[in-house]
Amino acid sequence: MAVPDVIVIGGGVTGLSAAHQVALRGARVTCLEADLFGGLVANVGVLEGFPAAAADSGAGLADALVVAATDAGVDFVAEPALAIDPAGGVVTTGSGTHRGGRLIIATGARLRPLDVPGAAELAGKGVSQCAFCDGGLYKNQEVVVVGGGDAALQEALHLARFCAKVTVVHRGRRLRARRSYVERAANHQRLAFRWQTAIEEIEGDGGVEGVRVRNMADRATEVIPCRAVFPFIGLEPNADILPAGVARDSRGFVETGPTLETSLTGVFAAGAVRVGFPGQLANALGDGTAAAIAALAS
Ligand SMILES: Cc1cc2nc3c(=O)[nH]c(=O)nc-3n(C[C@H](O)[C@H](O)[C@H](O)COP(=O)(O)OP(=O)(O)OC[C@H]3O[C@@H](n4cnc5c(N)ncnc54)[C@H](O)[C@@H]3O)c2cc1C
Repeated sequence: MAVPDVIVIGGGVTGLSAAHQVALRGARVTCLEADLFGGLVANVGVLEGFPAAAADSGAGLADALVVAATDAGVDFVAEPALAIDPAGGVVTTGSGTHRGGRLIIATGARLRPLDVPGAAELAGKGVSQCAFCDGGLYKNQEVVVVGGGDAALQEALHLARFCAKVTVVHRGRRLRARRSYVERAANHQRLAFRWQTAIEEIEGDGGVEGVRVRNMADRATEVIPCRAVFPFIGLEPNADILPAGVARDSRGFVETGPTLETSLTGVFAAGAVRVGFPGQLANALGDGTAAAIAALAS
């Protein structure tokens, strides 16, 4: 039986892993990436929970995966997929079409923006979703991080190395982050927490000057002075290119069966774009491998 060609959409850790594994098994594979290879961790300076001495940063991991995949024969295309035709395994980009027998959707997810007055107006003027990229601009200044999960704590701990004060504003009563982050945060002198607190507005004229917050228990409001706000309040899927009929959950993440096949025959979804993805880089590598094996077997 002929080995099918495969197109992988997305060059994050999942997509790079999938493309590499397909190529290692002797099939032709094209991997399309819209932006930065490495995806969500492309700008993460220090990876956590990923035991690979050769790649302790997101960029380092992406480089290592791209080199391995290139050596194995992956054809990389630095262009977004604009549309797919699942029946023919055809993917359209700005410069043409790519044909593959199987499609692996590894388009991941994006950080959810904070939807309060001031957030859009001050984006890039103090509102940022990359502490590793923009944090250095706020050395010795006060900043706010929004959220209580791994990403929020990872970025808050990074900022606390050089910012005067980092206030973590979290709607919950306790952090959802891994224990190592919680322990490091609890003992950090430059980290402060506002529990059960929601951001109502980001204030500032041409730059961030503070955030107005409301305590959800006693309804009291206050303004926390700060020069930057870093929201890490969850993810939303990059699934717009999939046909409307593909099964998704209420938040838009793609449903898959046990082999990571979607409701469309021959179309697989892996990594942060799918329902039930456990969230870590180790899972992304595993998902990519599983999707590659399943796509080739289908
Ligand atoms: C701030 C932050 C820090 C994190 N740090 C860690 C950590 O230290 N350790 C850890 O284990 N996990 C970490 N994670 C989790 C980790 O990022 C995810 O598990 C992993 O990135 C998921 O990989 P992915 O390839 O599925 O998705 P993504 O990383 O989202 O990659 C998807 C890729 O697809 C591309 N794409 C989207 N649409 C298209 C299109 N139409 N055409 C072509 N390409 C497209 C995107 O540009 C992107 O590059 C972190 C997450 C965040 C948000």
